[in-house]
Amino acid sequence: MKSPNYLLDATGTTIFTVMSALAAAHGAINLGQGFPDTDGPADVIEAAAAALKDGRNQYPPLTGVPELREAVAAANRRFYGIEVDPNTEVVVTSGATEAITACLMALLNPGDEAVLIEPLFDTYLPVVKMLGATARLVRLTPPDWELPRAELAAAFGAKTKLLLLNSPMNPTGKVFSADDLDFIADLLTRHDAYAICDEVYEHLIFDGLKHIPLMSLPGMRQRCVRIGSAGKTFSLTGWKVGYVTAPAGLATLIARAHQNLTFTTPPNLQRAVAVGLAKADDYFAALGIDLAAKRDILAAGLRDIGFIVLPSSGSYFITADFTPLNFEGDDVAFCRHITEHAGVAAIPVSAFYPSDAPTHYARFAFCKRDTVLREAIGRLRTHFTGRRAAE
Ligand code: PMP
Repeated sequence: MKSPNYLLDATGTTIFTVMSALAAAHGAINLGQGFPDTDGPADVIEAAAAALKDGRNQYPPLTGVPELREAVAAANRRFYGIEVDPNTEVVVTSGATEAITACLMALLNPGDEAVLIEPLFDTYLPVVKMLGATARLVRLTPPDWELPRAELAAAFGAKTKLLLLNSPMNPTGKVFSADDLDFIADLLTRHDAYAICDEVYEHLIFDGLKHIPLMSLPGMRQRCVRIGSAGKTFSLTGWKVGYVTAPAGLATLIARAHQNLTFTTPPNLQRAVAVGLAKADDYFAALGIDLAAKRDILAAGLRDIGFIVLPSSGSYFITADFTPLNFEGDDVAFCRHITEHAGVAAIPVSAFYPSDAPTHYARFAFCKRDTVLREAIGRLRTHFTGRRAAE
């Protein structure tokens, strides 16, 4: 038999699925995969249920139902002052995952180069490779996950078609600063390159920081595509509704890619997400405030156990260095160990690097009920220190 696709063969099952299965098998609290353990807003869920029953269950328009495209345009204006034509500049997708692939398909030709920033979300690199493009990897520097500007500049060249930027960032929780963004905008202009901006955590941002879409910077409107996710913004990760904002010429090609991937996205969920995006400002503001309090609970607990906790300014995640715990083994062994023996699952950060990864960091998700976070901390504390409670 001839071999099937070697790139997919090499990709393997995502670490998130692997660790969630292991967590379930051992009855562990799952601080691995990033999903909230409470439902999203009741009015949004009710809107989806109602939309199922009003006779609009056939294929919706290719680029998304008008209600949602208009809501995405309105959200761009309300939050960032970006003016968007809902008819030509918005494409609704089945999750940000599909959006990322569709945007890469729309921009890359075989032989092009894409600049990716490590640690990176696990779909980026396989898709770049599947499209016959080459990735140029630039690595952030822990513990502050700083952007090494000289290295980023050196990764750009004549073949650079795009940069893929994730801010707020998974798994680091880094929010790229206004200065970082200015530097990136300058590089894009000088090299006539695009940016795919994975902004799924745009509203999950802490400590008074404000999300700045690269697209909102001078000269960037035509160079950027911006990706959002209802899963993150409405704590409904299973819904898989994503939305892309792009200049019209690119939006047309992103829609062609979407046509070949899924063609459309369930209309009832789209209509409910439109209801969600119209919610009052306080809903969006509360997202970051609530999550920051959870981050603080988990960070303090991990620190008390002995972890070195790295800063997180956004997303669902913190990364922690477990070196002080004197565990013998790498991060994969550590995450397996705590899942099986402490009853708490986490994700090894090396999974976010294709090679030469640091192997002493674990990623913990804090988008869980406070009682669950406290129970997880208690389990880890008992396991590592023999103490049940903080002293
Ligand atoms: N990008 C990043 C950085 C993510 O963390 C995730 C979800 N974990 C996605 C994209 C995918 O989002 P969705 O569930 O909407 O496909």
